[in-house]
Amino acid sequence: MRYDTVIIGGGLAGLTAGIELLKRGQKVAAVSTGQSALHFNSGSLDLMGRSKTGRDIINPLQGIMSVGEQHPYARLGFPRIQRLLPRIKPLFEEAGITLNGTADRNHFRLTPLGMFKPAWLTMAGLATTDNPDNPGWGRCLIINIAGFIDYYPQFLANGLAKTGIECDIRNLSHPAIEYLRKSSTEMRATNIARVIRGEVIDQIAKSVSKMAKESSADTVLMPSVVGVFSETPLRRMLELAQCNLKFVGTMPMSVSGMRTQMCLRRLFEHLGGTYLLGDSVRCGKFSGNRLTEVYTTNLGDMPLQAETFILASGSFISHGLEADPEHVYEPLFGLDVDADSNRPQWSHMNIYTSQQYMSFGVRTDDRFRVSRNGQTVSNLFAAGSILSGSNAVKEESGAGITLLTALNAADTICNCNETKTQKLQPSEYY
Ligand SMILES: Cc1cc2nc3c(=O)[nH]c(=O)nc-3n(C[C@H](O)[C@H](O)[C@H](O)COP(=O)(O)OP(=O)(O)OC[C@H]3O[C@@H](n4cnc5c(N)ncnc54)[C@H](O)[C@@H]3O)c2cc1C
Repeated sequence: MRYDTVIIGGGLAGLTAGIELLKRGQKVAAVSTGQSALHFNSGSLDLMGRSKTGRDIINPLQGIMSVGEQHPYARLGFPRIQRLLPRIKPLFEEAGITLNGTADRNHFRLTPLGMFKPAWLTMAGLATTDNPDNPGWGRCLIINIAGFIDYYPQFLANGLAKTGIECDIRNLSHPAIEYLRKSSTEMRATNIARVIRGEVIDQIAKSVSKMAKESSADTVLMPSVVGVFSETPLRRMLELAQCNLKFVGTMPMSVSGMRTQMCLRRLFEHLGGTYLLGDSVRCGKFSGNRLTEVYTTNLGDMPLQAETFILASGSFISHGLEADPEHVYEPLFGLDVDADSNRPQWSHMNIYTSQQYMSFGVRTDDRFRVSRNGQTVSNLFAAGSILSGSNAVKEESGAGITLLTALNAADTICNCNETKTQKLQPSEYY
């Protein structure tokens, strides 16, 4: 099977790059083993949230300007970042995902532990404020779903009490959710979201309005358990609940993260992309400095051939990178990796401090092409969390790096192709 571009990994990086390539007329396939980091997403996309000293960053663009020269942001360059940033919200909007926020000022999203965390773009309905010291929410009612184990109202109330917000806590139940409770392991956010649909939404919205009235709360906080496939149920709940209702992220799995994954995948497929879910690229064939084809587990001996490839297989959590006791390596093609050879330096006993292994990743040239045995692979681009040079957890920059490097990979591939096509224009020869 022949494509213009084959993408290895169908998470945030793979889907974003794929959508861009499809829009520009390419024939694209993405192979994805399974879960991506989006399934654990907090509900916010981070651009740059923390300084080197751990302080909240208010202006992420200023934060970006202070990164080291090996950082993916530094290698993209500030002018290019500024050109790419305005494309992100419209791309998500097209996929049916509403994002609130801007790149020149972080807002603050309420975490499940009742703290406020800087964020660049936050998904619709989630509780955010511009002023974490005084969110202006008045008295809050925290509603939980009876029996739900991944949401801790008391932690939330204790955290909010530190900013002077008083909270009541109440439990809500509904027969459709009670049915799930028969097996307590079913009581996860994404399972609950699957049953909150149709008239269940209307009935729960009615209960929420009643509770809000009874408690005279100014703001109602509910776990983010609505709308796993699309934003529609969430919008309906917000519309019907006659109160100032805001959602709060839960412990993973993340409903808003899974919704994002599904919406992006739907757009990718709607544009004509081939998404091979549950399949894994297992190896590739090289000719000189080019990757010519890859082989997957399900397709056996039938290769996926392409002009260009994007490696978007993620970091350690997605097995884009792996480690044995001595080495960090890229498991598919044995690509060159930037990692400290001194094993004791990889991690620190203090789990709250910066962990060096988080900045390990594949080595790339200035166009984000990977290398193998010191030689650039001319048609294999890397994007997303597999790249070296940043500590996305520490600096809160994960989605920003992922989205910008994915768009950049798509642009670079299209520009290369345009140059090639231009060379073949007959007018050039006469
Ligand atoms: C637990 C966790 C929570 C996070 N939360 C946030 C957050 O709230 N906000 C934020 O901004 N950032 C967050 N991040 C950062 C996150 O890494 C990026 O935002 C982004 O989602 C990474 O996308 P990616 O596509 O590069 O990688 P991934 O999302 O990891 O996707 C890689 C995909 O490649 C697939 N794959 C791997 N190997 C193969 C193969 N051989 N063949 C086929 N497919 C393969 C994997 O199955 C996976 O689906 C979080 C990261 C983690 C680990």
